[in-house]
Amino acid sequence: MTATFVERRPAFLFLGAPGSGKGTQGKILGSIPRFFHCACGDIFRSLDTRTELGQKFVAYSSRGELVPDELTIQLWKAQVDNWAESHVYKPDIDFLVLDGIPRNVAQARMIDDFLEVHQVFHLSCPNRAELARRMRKRALKDNRLDDASESVIQNRISTYEAETKPILDHYGPGLVTEIDATRQPVEVVAAILSTIIHLPFYKTFTRLGV
Ligand code: ADP
Repeated sequence: MTATFVERRPAFLFLGAPGSGKGTQGKILGSIPRFFHCACGDIFRSLDTRTELGQKFVAYSSRGELVPDELTIQLWKAQVDNWAESHVYKPDIDFLVLDGIPRNVAQARMIDDFLEVHQVFHLSCPNRAELARRMRKRALKDNRLDDASESVIQNRISTYEAETKPILDHYGPGLVTEIDATRQPVEVVAAILSTIIHLPFYKTFTRLGV
């Protein structure tokens, strides 16, 4: 079987500021059969930091900045191809659940060549102080250096506002579901799942597999 994207793969996208719970929700969804969670930050964090690419990631992320687009998309696509080739991810029957990618409109355009995004879940948390609180907590628990300093936290939140949020307009209101990310994780996952199971595309696609 080839690992190339012969047609555009179905995907759901989680969009939200750092600390909005994309990773938590992505992991939950990814534990359900036919959903494959793909967290771009985890791909970067799994890089050997002794390599040039690993060093680049550390340099950008420690400042709260995005890794350049070409590099990001190349690495991301190679990883998705790998998963497909090793049959962990089954492109003909699995939904990709994207978390942390795309992070700007240029990336969204690049991934549109490979993927068909069927719904964008905007995990909305207008309370920036709450986001910063969650990030500080995560810095201690998960040893996330990029969440440890106040200036980096603020930089990550403003990068989100300036570069990532415009992605909502790229996909348009018809594809975007607003989710209140301040609710309990169980309520957030319930809102996401009830949206997905009512999508006409979901019903057609899930009939393809067993
Ligand atoms: P969070 O879940 O807090 O939003 P991530 O774990 O997704 O953070 O990402 C951590 C860091 O990895 C980002 O700050 C950025 O430097 C880099 N990164 C992750 N995804 C991308 C992407 N799609 N484009 C550019 N940089 C990225």
